[in-house]
Amino acid sequence: MSTFSFSLQTGETGPLIKASTPETVRIPTHGHTALYAKGDQVLAGTRIAKALLPDEGDLHAPLAGVIEEIESDGILIRVTGKERTAPQEPPENGGDHLREWLRQSGVDAGSLRQANTLIVNAVPPEPGISIHAPLLQDYRKVVELGLETVLRITASAKTYLVTARGNRTNAFPDCTVLDVPAVYPSGIDQLVMKAVTGREVLLGTHPEDVTILSVRDLYLIGRVMETGRPVTETVLTIGGRNHLIMIGTAVGFLLQEAGASAHPGDRVLLGGPMRGRAALNLQQGVDKEATGLTIVKQGEGLNPTDNFCLGCGECEAHCPARIMPGMISRCAEFKHFARAEDYHIHSCIECGLCAYYCKAQRPLLQYIRLAKYELALLRTKSLHPIEDIAGGEA
Ligand code: SF4
Ligand code: SF4
Repeated sequence: MSTFSFSLQTGETGPLIKASTPETVRIPTHGHTALYAKGDQVLAGTRIAKALLPDEGDLHAPLAGVIEEIESDGILIRVTGKERTAPQEPPENGGDHLREWLRQSGVDAGSLRQANTLIVNAVPPEPGISIHAPLLQDYRKVVELGLETVLRITASAKTYLVTARGNRTNAFPDCTVLDVPAVYPSGIDQLVMKAVTGREVLLGTHPEDVTILSVRDLYLIGRVMETGRPVTETVLTIGGRNHLIMIGTAVGFLLQEAGASAHPGDRVLLGGPMRGRAALNLQQGVDKEATGLTIVKQGEGLNPTDNFCLGCGECEAHCPARIMPGMISRCAEFKHFARAEDYHIHSCIECGLCAYYCKAQRPLLQYIRLAKYELALLRTKSLHPIEDIAGGEA
């Protein structure tokens, strides 16, 4: 990892490349319930799954086809063509009506709420991920339409565009431009909000008077408004180039398209090198949260193992949330999930720096995500206060 660069400078990224049409798509359905059954035919744009949470966008078929399988975490569609559903007319009113229309059209609506300050995050989310650059340069009108649409819901008095210092950008009308150091993890939403407001915000919470969306979010909203069609595409960085892909396209198909290949023992991350989640296999469909595909070659990069914590404190020294990742990882390792709250696990912004610097190469981010997941499960399963699963000392 000695040559790893934390730089968020994007340089010249070239135009957006449109990926070819795959033969199948596997739409990840975590947090959604399927609306169709195996064997049903769907058109491009058919709403195939409904969100279980009120702010999550519904899911739509990107192409026409036959549903081959309803899996526990996805819907597999064999593509037969491009016949589409009729476009929908966007509502004339803004506010909640427009918000719900967008949500049903596949837009995640958690950030679409009234707020005095709107922040547009144009900072690359991770090193090597440059999804915002081609959208700001070549799809400016769509991004601006997205911004106008968002303002009809947020009714914000102030808008900020936050960029990484040195990256090319142009301001939107009536918008204040602010730059942050072009060094990871400056682009994480919580740190961008802190740069604008001076306040710290917990991951997954929404301050009442501030809301934040990325340039990619604005682009996707602009496309829905422009076409009257739901979100079925997203933008990913693969090998330094940005690709417009259909949600649900298999990881392996996209790597092949980009001229990249993963070998046995390599890991493919959905996202960048610091925060990306490992793909289970090359058939896994890309979800709409992913910002890129990153191959970590066997023997290169971080190879986390369940080594004992050395108590060296390196992870704490580099944690921007000023918490104790080592102690939290021990709580997760021994299933003392509730105790992780005593170490302020919810202040973690999931930047992955602790794992990068861990002397013992412990999988700290994975432990933290596991503990957060288990805590959320415990909350939903019980109305009673969370009890420690394992009991005893961590
Ligand atoms: S991932 Fe690690 S370094 Fe980053 S905020 Fe969380 S605990 Fe701190
Ligand atoms: S850096 Fe790793 S080994 Fe050191 S205290 Fe943190 S978790 Fe333990």
